[in-house]
Formats: sequence, structure tokens, C-alpha cells
Amino acid sequence: MSEIPNYLKYGYITPEELFSIIPKPSEKRLRERPVAVPECPQRIPCTPCKEVCPTNAIKMDNPNDIPIVDYEKCIGCSLCVQVCPGLAFFMIHYVGDKARITLPHELLPLPERGEEVILLNRKGEEVGRGRVITVVPREKTKGDTPIVTVEVPLELAWDVRAIKVVRE
Ligand code: SF4
Ligand code: SF4
Repeated sequence: MSEIPNYLKYGYITPEELFSIIPKPSEKRLRERPVAVPECPQRIPCTPCKEVCPTNAIKMDNPNDIPIVDYEKCIGCSLCVQVCPGLAFFMIHYVGDKARITLPHELLPLPERGEEVILLNRKGEEVGRGRVITVVPREKTKGDTPIVTVEVPLELAWDVRAIKVVRE
């Protein structure tokens, strides 16, 4: 019996299913500083996230394991978000009544700092609007993925996983 039956059936993971296979960061940790959370539930041979992590916070005993982050070791550098070829790493930080989500964004145009964007859930449905806090564009020499940090209502912290830039 699979640990992730709904993911395999529908093609996206729910927070409930995700936190049945990896630990959820505590609210205290989420408020201290950004923390990286992998949404990579399938046992595939892939390790760039583990290799790039400067603090060895990502545990994978063999390349087929799913990544497990030691949230206390994570310094929030975002390198795992930039390097993951599956666009499967996100960073979450609770700030007051908002959450700041750092996510990969491969579509053009890139948003600008301060811009209001549409928030999308894992199914691609619009769930609200948020404001862009930072943008780290692709580094041409490395080919890494651009990443965006967007501020969203706290209650959407575990729903928003993409953004849409709309310029009328
Ligand atoms: S954000 Fe940085 S320190 Fe944290 S798990 Fe990712 S690479 Fe490691
Ligand atoms: S780099 Fe991405 S796809 Fe590969 S194991 Fe890490 S989280 Fe999963």
C-alpha cells in the first residue's frame, strides 16, 4: 500500500499527506526564521538538494530516499529551492499574521519586488493575492531556477505554491 495514494491518484500532494511522510516544522521554528520544506514524496534517484546544503541539514541515506530536513540545522539560505530540478523545495516563514513563502518561478515574466501577484495552490487554482518581497533571478552561469518570496495571509501558508503575474 502506497504512503501517498492521493498524490499518485491526483498528481498533487495535500499537506495532510505530506506531513504523514515528513515532519512539520513547529510554529515556534516557523516564526524564528525561514525554514526549507521539501515536497518530494517519491523515491527517485536524485540528490542535488542534499549536495548543495551548506549545513548538511538534508538527510538522505541513499539517493532513492525522500529528503528529510533537520529544521534546526536549516539556516534558510534557499539554495535547495534554487537547485531542485523538480521544483519541489519551498521555504516558509511566519511573520505576524502573514507567511512568507519562497518558491521557484520558471515562467516569464518575473515579478518585481513589491508587485501584487495572484496566488495559486498546488492544483493551479487562484486562492488570493499576495505581495512580492524579493526576487532572485536565474544565475546565467549556473542555470539555477529564479526564486520569488511572496507574502500571503497566514492561513494560506500551506496552500500557496505558485504565483501568476498579471499586468493589465
Ligand atoms: S535552505 Fe539552505 S540550509 Fe536550509 S535545507 Fe535548504 S540548502 Fe539547507
Ligand atoms: S533535488 Fe528536488 S527532486 Fe531531487 S531529491 Fe531533492 S527535493 Fe527531490
